[in-house]
Amino acid sequence: MSVLNRREFLNRMAAGTTALAAANKGRAARTSGPRTSGTGPPSAGLAEPAFRPLPLGAVKPRGWLLRQLRIQAQGLSGRLDEFWPDVGQSKWFGGQAEGWERAPYWLDGFIPLAFLLDDPALKAKAAKYVEYIVAHQRSDGWYGPYPEDAVAKRYDLWAILLADKMLVQYHDATGDERVLRAVEKSLRAMLAGLDKTPLYDWGRYRWFEGLIPAFYVYEKTGEAWLLDLARKLRAQGFDYRAFYAGEDVTVPTPRRGLWKWAKHVVNTGMAAKSAALSWRLGPNESDRAFAGRMIEILDRHHGQATGMFTGDECLAGKNPVQGTELCSVVEFLYSLEHLLSILGDPFFGDRLEKVAFNALPATFSPDMWAHQYDQQANQIQCTINPDHMWTTNGPESNLYGLEPNYGCCTANMHQGWPKFAAHLWMAAPGGGVAAATYAPGEVRFDARGTPVDISVETDYPFRETIRLSVRAERPVRFPLLLRIPAWAEGAALDVGGADGPKPKPGTFHRLDREWNGAVDLLLRLPMKARVSRRYNEAAAVERGPLVYSLKIGEAWTRVNAEKPHRDLPHGDFEVRPTTPWNYGLALDETDPASSLVFEERPVGERPFSPEGAGVVARVKARKLSAWRPAHGWAGEISPGPQESREPEETVELIPYGCTNIRVTEFPRLRR
Ligand SMILES: [Zn+2]
Repeated sequence: MSVLNRREFLNRMAAGTTALAAANKGRAARTSGPRTSGTGPPSAGLAEPAFRPLPLGAVKPRGWLLRQLRIQAQGLSGRLDEFWPDVGQSKWFGGQAEGWERAPYWLDGFIPLAFLLDDPALKAKAAKYVEYIVAHQRSDGWYGPYPEDAVAKRYDLWAILLADKMLVQYHDATGDERVLRAVEKSLRAMLAGLDKTPLYDWGRYRWFEGLIPAFYVYEKTGEAWLLDLARKLRAQGFDYRAFYAGEDVTVPTPRRGLWKWAKHVVNTGMAAKSAALSWRLGPNESDRAFAGRMIEILDRHHGQATGMFTGDECLAGKNPVQGTELCSVVEFLYSLEHLLSILGDPFFGDRLEKVAFNALPATFSPDMWAHQYDQQANQIQCTINPDHMWTTNGPESNLYGLEPNYGCCTANMHQGWPKFAAHLWMAAPGGGVAAATYAPGEVRFDARGTPVDISVETDYPFRETIRLSVRAERPVRFPLLLRIPAWAEGAALDVGGADGPKPKPGTFHRLDREWNGAVDLLLRLPMKARVSRRYNEAAAVERGPLVYSLKIGEAWTRVNAEKPHRDLPHGDFEVRPTTPWNYGLALDETDPASSLVFEERPVGERPFSPEGAGVVARVKARKLSAWRPAHGWAGEISPGPQESREPEETVELIPYGCTNIRVTEFPRLRR
């Protein structure tokens, strides 16, 4: 058993009391998804999720999403093992380099990428590495890198939780029984090992990741000890619910401040799903409510226009020059996919799209060979900067490069797009299917024994219309659920050429009917411009799921060419502005549409590049001479509307995800 100190013990007691009170008070949780379903295998002992993810490979990307995944496969994700020792020569594969989180991190994104693209070369590569790990598992259940004398040489179990989570994806895609047995053996070793060495450090703060493979194997085997393992992980793990009931989480970490496990930005992104996963172990209404409350607290105290929160590397407040680490972006996306699946609340789908279409693509170079450690909403240049604003990160954190600041993101970035694509659709109760998020693609699933194929033709999020074509092999009745984003006021659905009932924003619109032959649906999600008030009363422009930023001219300069493994195309780059950025915007906040003109453009070969932007906006602006760089970055925005005697200009905004440098939170001009 883990040893709790007195304060932790009291915190847990307090959290337990609150939970009980909440449960007795009634079912007031915001989450509204169905409680029970017949969507998957029976899992007595585990509460049913609202929706179940479809097997890896059921969703096929098309259109811009397919191009994006190909860019990724032709960039760092597909090639990292060929030149980066921490993956290519990992101890996980018999080498002498890092033998902890990096190789499992890479495979965790590489495996779904390979199977979504259905690419034989990528799949063969995944098979080779998985085969090595499974073949070199020891007879006691531990994987190769785990030290023989684990009591003397400590090994933080986080990497094993991650490896098992990664391997069950491979089993899901291939059905390879040996992989399932390997995970089962590893989890059994963990169950015994936790008694000798309880969770500590990363494992303690990421305990809930182990629930994912434990639940997966439990649903295949029904072995009750897997739920004992899940409970043991929870008992030894950090209690985020208690932490979020306190004050500390609301306080931004100061510049050169104190690094804390509980405020670590990646742990935060991961922990968003912790209570929802825990809810499956023994239904407790307050566990269902936690994620919504946690996100509310993060938005209020550390939120950014992209739906992310800052952390460089611990939670850093709302100032748009603070950084958000790439690992936290991909982990928060993965958490949101679990939250939507378990709780069924469309709110998590709205947030999932917002983060996926904005924060995720922005932090890569458009060719996905270079990435940042930290992105900023107001990022006017990316340079090696010893005078930086980060709380605890280093001076290279916003460079575009191979491993700026630290190599975790280099290993972990790969899961973002593939897992997003794999979760576009989920199985719904009653043999149905739910559109969780929208992007071009195709899904095949089985509705009560009848194969059904749905294709989605769209340039969403750059367009308002989504064409769906449902084809059932034989007539079959099943519910089709369409997520209607909360912002989509006036949404309309046309079913087989006739107006359907008006879909309500912020719900899953349900079409429960007999599907026969091919039925075409046309969903229109009107995107009205919105202006949100941000840090120091700055304004940010949003429309649909996209956030808009100033398009700034860019000069890229290669740096660190002498450092190892930086041969092109995987070099490091600084980016500097070549056009002015210090504008205040003339926005009519009561009627944003009157001051913004949006224009659709063809979605580029590189959908998330300044040139490839599928939609642009024009707005009147004036330069603000008082708004200058500080610490090499966009200085503090003064609160309130600003005066400017500079001439009025028209500036162009493009989607945040298409920018490499940008201003997103603008001072407002006095009218
Ligand atoms: Zn990272």
